[in-house]
Amino acid sequence: MTKFSYQNELDDFKATAHWLALRGWSEAAGGNMSIRLDAQNNFLSKLHEDDHIKLPVDVPYLAGKAVLLTGSGTRAREIGVDPLPHIGLYKISDDGRYYGWIAGNETPSMELPAHFAIHNALEQHRPGDKAILHTHPASLIALCHVDGFDNAKTISDKILSMQSEARLILPEGIGFVEHELPGSLELGLKSAKLLERHHLVLWQCHGLLATGDSLAGAFDKLEVFEKSARVYWQLRAAGIDPAGISETEIKHTLKAFGRLERY
Ligand SMILES: [Zn+2]
Repeated sequence: MTKFSYQNELDDFKATAHWLALRGWSEAAGGNMSIRLDAQNNFLSKLHEDDHIKLPVDVPYLAGKAVLLTGSGTRAREIGVDPLPHIGLYKISDDGRYYGWIAGNETPSMELPAHFAIHNALEQHRPGDKAILHTHPASLIALCHVDGFDNAKTISDKILSMQSEARLILPEGIGFVEHELPGSLELGLKSAKLLERHHLVLWQCHGLLATGDSLAGAFDKLEVFEKSARVYWQLRAAGIDPAGISETEIKHTLKAFGRLERY
């Protein structure tokens, strides 16, 4: 295995995977993560023509860039101990139509095309978000089984009104994608569209996709949404169907913090 030396990013993978495993949010080999790199050094320029693999969708905004991605079948609980054997480094060709393996783990997550499509949208619309995190928190998946929780607005309004700061951190609410084949390009493309505006996308009966300036930043937003969902479930378990904080109060809070225009 050719090694690479993106220590800050490896530390981010390690710490995030550790917490995902500890929280029980990435069971078995569930979930995957990636970080987009801007680096244009000599090491990254070594993508030979013979190593080009055609992407199912063009990613022009990633032309010449590189991505660190978790390998197929890798486990959060093992990445959290030693990330290097589980992370691969991939380079995108200068025309944004091909990619090639550069170093590290050589068998990428089956969600590679989806991650690349999402990074492409992020680079175009929200370039500050360099990291993508996908995981399976039970309290969020369980929401998808509630009658009427089959759209972004209902879930955002109900769950993000459970706690005073949740909507402040996620004023635009969450995105929602109806059930799709796991790992499919369709799932990735629909998410990429929603991530132009949202930081979180709930995949119906599957899990959550989060973006951030780092994996830790994506984890922050996942944590906020998951905490609100847990408050909701604790109340439901006590026989209460909570009304939540009123829309007037939510808007008042967003206005006070200058975030109302994102609501
Ligand atoms: Zn998944």
